[in-house]
Amino acid sequence: MAAVETIHVDGVWQAAASGAQREVLDPADAKTLAVVAEGGVEDTDAAIAAARRAFDQGPWPGTPVAERAALLRRVADLLQRDRETIALIESRDTGKTLEEGRVDVDDVTNAFRYFADLVTGESAGRVVDAGTPDVHSVVAHEPVGVCAMITPWNYPLLQASWKVAPALAAGNTFVIKPSEVTPLSTVHLVKLLAEAGLPTGVANVVTGAGDPVGARLSEHPDVDLVSFTGGLISGTKVAQAAAPTVKKVALELGGKNPNVVFADACATAEGFDTAVDQALNAAFIHSGQVCSAGARLIIEESVRERFVAELARRAEKIKLGRGTEDGVECGPLVSAQQLDKTEAYVASALAEGALLRCGGKQPEPNEVRPATGYFYLPTVLDQCHREMRVVREETFGPILTVESFQTEDEAVTLANDTEYGLAGAVWSTDTARARRVAARLRHGTVWINDYHPYLPQAEWGGFGKSGVGRELGPAGLDEYRETKHVYENLRPSPVRWFAG
Ligand code: NAD
Repeated sequence: MAAVETIHVDGVWQAAASGAQREVLDPADAKTLAVVAEGGVEDTDAAIAAARRAFDQGPWPGTPVAERAALLRRVADLLQRDRETIALIESRDTGKTLEEGRVDVDDVTNAFRYFADLVTGESAGRVVDAGTPDVHSVVAHEPVGVCAMITPWNYPLLQASWKVAPALAAGNTFVIKPSEVTPLSTVHLVKLLAEAGLPTGVANVVTGAGDPVGARLSEHPDVDLVSFTGGLISGTKVAQAAAPTVKKVALELGGKNPNVVFADACATAEGFDTAVDQALNAAFIHSGQVCSAGARLIIEESVRERFVAELARRAEKIKLGRGTEDGVECGPLVSAQQLDKTEAYVASALAEGALLRCGGKQPEPNEVRPATGYFYLPTVLDQCHREMRVVREETFGPILTVESFQTEDEAVTLANDTEYGLAGAVWSTDTARARRVAARLRHGTVWINDYHPYLPQAEWGGFGKSGVGRELGPAGLDEYRETKHVYENLRPSPVRWFAG
C-alpha cells in the first residue's frame, strides 16, 4: 500500500513513524472511503516539539494582531473557495447530508471571520488605576503557548474551527488530533492554513486514535493547554492525564438536552405546526448525533397525545439515505458502534416500559440506503420516566424520549434532572413564563421558542458534566490567552519593611 501522509509536522506532510495506517469508512455503505496515517506517540512528540519551537522561536506569537487577523480572513476566503469540496468530504466522512456540510462550511467561515474581527477590535491592554500617579499598571493578554486540540466525529470541521480560529487569533501554536472516525476535513483545513501563509510549525496535525495520540497530547509537559470536545468518559481521562502538569484544560462534553413545550405554544394551528416541526429538528437532525440534540421532549400532559401522534407521523416520513443523494433528509449513523449503541438504548427503554411510537429498527435498504450502511429509523419513545437509562444517558442517536408534566415547577424539575447542562429550549406564548423558565434552566444555552441556532459572538458550553470553559464569543478567545498584569513603579523608593 502506498504511504499515506496525513500527519503534518513542521510544515511537512508525512506517514506515521511506524508506517501504520487506518481505513476510514463511508458510513452509508461501510466501504473504505480513505486511508490515513495512524499516528502514535513518536509522531505526537514530534508534532509537539514542532509547535513548541514555533512558539518559542518562531514569528507567530509576536506577529501584529492585524496580520494575524488578515490571515484568518484569508482562511475564511479559502474555505468559501473550497466550499463544495469540503461539504462533500464532510458528508461522506460523517454521513450528514451535503446541505448540512455546506452549512458547516459557512459556519466555520463565520467563526474565522468573527475571531479576526474580535482581536482587531480590542485595545492592547487595560490600564488599571493603582490609586497613585506614581504607578502605571496595565493588564494585557498573551497567547497561552502550545495548544493541543482533540475533536469528535459529529462536526469535525466545525469543532476544529472553534479551537483553531481563536487559538491562532491569540498567537498560539497547536497540534490537532481529529477523531479517528472522521479525520479528512481537518487535514484539508490544515492545508488551507499553510496556503493562507501560516508560518511553518504553527499548525500541526496527528491523525490517530484517542489513546495513544490524544492521551499523549493531554499528558505532555510541553503542551500548555488542552482543549477537548467529545464524550464524558474520554473528557474525564483527558482531565486526569492533564492534571500532573497543571496545564489549562477546556472540556466541551455531551448533553441530555430538554425541549420543554407548554400547551399554550400549541394553541393555534400555526403554533402547533412550528413546535412539532422544531421538535423533529431538535431531535433528528444529523440523526441525533448532535451534542445539543433536543433528545428529551418534556411536554404538558394536556397536549401530549396530539403532539406525539403528529411528531411520530412526521418522523416516519423523514427520508433516510446516503447524505450525498438529492432529497435525502437524514444520513446514516457514523459507525457500527453508534448503530449498536442506538439499538441497545431502544431495547433497554422498551424493557423498562417505554412505548414505541415510531422507528425502533433499521430501515429496509433501497437505492439510496445500502444494506451495509449504518441506518436507523427516527425513533419516538413515549411514556418515558426519569429512571430509564435512555432518559438519563446521552444516546447520541435518533432517539426522542417523551416525558410529560402538569405544572411549571414540574417542567423545570424534569428539564434540570440531568448530570449534564449543555442546552435546552422552552416553548410558550406566555413571554413572562418562557423567560422565567429559561432563567431557571441549568444549561449553557437556552432557546425560547426556537431550537439549535447559535451565534459565533455568543459563548457556547455547558453547566455540570457538559464541560469546563466556553467556546465562541469573547470567553472563547480568552481560553487561549494568559492574562498578565504589569505594575510599573514610576518613582521607586525603599519600602523599609525591614529595619536593617
Ligand atoms: P469521544 O469522546 O469518543 O472522542 C472524542 C475525541 O477524543 C476523539 O478524537 C477521540 O479519539 C479522542 N479520545 C478518545 N479517548 C481519548 C483519551 N483517552 N485521551 C484523549 N483523547 C481521547 O467522542 P465522540 O464519540 O467522537 O463524539 C461524541 C461526543 O462528543 C458526544 O458526547 C457529544 O455530546 C460530544 N460533543 C460535544 C460538543 C460540545 O460542544 N459540547 C460538540 C460535539 C460533540
